[in-house]
Amino acid sequence: MLIRNGVAVLVNGPVRLDIRTRDEKIVEIAEQLTPEPDEPVIDANGKMILPGFIDSHVHFRDPGGPQKEDFLSGTRAALAGGVTTILDMPNTQPPTDSWERLLEKVAIVAPKAVVDYGFYLGATDTNIEEAASIAGEIAAMKLYMGSSTGSLLVTEFSPIYRHFSTFPSDKPIVVHAEDEQSLKYFGALGSQEHNQARPPVSAQIALSRALAIAEKTDRVLHVAHTTTERELELIQEAKNKGVRVTCEVTPLHLFLTEEDQHRIGNFAKVNPPLRSEKDQQALWRYFATIDTIGTDHAPHTREEKKQPYEKAPSGMPGVQTMLPLMLNAVSEGKVTIEEVIKRCVINPARIFGLKTKGALEIGKDADIVLFDPNQEVEITDEQMLSKCGWTPFAGRKVKGKIEQVFIRGTLAYEQGTVLAQPGSGKAMQY
Ligand SMILES: [Zn+2]
Repeated sequence: MLIRNGVAVLVNGPVRLDIRTRDEKIVEIAEQLTPEPDEPVIDANGKMILPGFIDSHVHFRDPGGPQKEDFLSGTRAALAGGVTTILDMPNTQPPTDSWERLLEKVAIVAPKAVVDYGFYLGATDTNIEEAASIAGEIAAMKLYMGSSTGSLLVTEFSPIYRHFSTFPSDKPIVVHAEDEQSLKYFGALGSQEHNQARPPVSAQIALSRALAIAEKTDRVLHVAHTTTERELELIQEAKNKGVRVTCEVTPLHLFLTEEDQHRIGNFAKVNPPLRSEKDQQALWRYFATIDTIGTDHAPHTREEKKQPYEKAPSGMPGVQTMLPLMLNAVSEGKVTIEEVIKRCVINPARIFGLKTKGALEIGKDADIVLFDPNQEVEITDEQMLSKCGWTPFAGRKVKGKIEQVFIRGTLAYEQGTVLAQPGSGKAMQY
């Protein structure tokens, strides 16, 4: 296939280029390529050619939460959002915390996937040796230092330290950094403001602990969903000292604040919470410190979210809205397109060892998004392909529209319609 006349976003920015794909790969990139006999040609005049986005943080609820999402609905939502690779978190039901559970999950979800995928293994108090021994089959280990959705939790020093010192030194350990003891303390004070029930200091305590342990054990630490200025200061300081730490921010925290809890109630409840406007602004100011943008796509049904504060589960969907929101931020001049591609494609591929992904480059998988930067689109609940059927961004107008998505050279999505067949998504090799 030949994609002609588009503006391709490469590592260093947008360039007017033609791209040829063959046998699932990008095989040629040049200023001008001539179609071969019988070669399908796509005219991308006026469009941007983006590498498929990688969402390294999703919760597709499969197995265990089919009323919220399953791997088919989750990956369809990803595809419609220009996300061609996802990494699925382990707090499913049952949790993915052993080799056996990982194999069970693969068997359940592989026949449903329409985008490429990888998995996290959840750390427990006791699976230290096992986690280390199967590290080559997973994207990373996920360690919950504070309670969130599901039962995975490791709070004591000994198992945390042993996980870090036993896990392979070249593989990331991803932490949910909220401190359990302080969450219990602040939670018991009874505030219904989520940002007070799980305040920034809880994140700061857990992060400081994780950074100290990563430094001492010389392991690769990736901090999920950072939300505050203080966390980014600590991470930047650790980076300056040579600690192997990278960090993520979610579009939820980039584009919403605690005020949104007053607007949409518990639909805006998420762990860690939406923060103050001051912290939100700091995320943009510290954009250079942020390595990845992951959505923390965590769907819950409307009925679940309408329950009282104490009962309503935490998490919001987001896999379908990351690309439109980030590219809209580009159109508003908040960040450059190459800064977005770095955090949504290049860095996640590098950090999680996704060798065949990560850029519009010869030899990489032909995961390609054709994007019309000039159309204006309103985000609506109805467009969402997630089973939960709602988005906290409903009503937002964004500049730019995803027109076509190719996965490994095959047209998988076009103008609102998913064309990919269940099971066409492939498991990542590391
Ligand atoms: Zn998460």
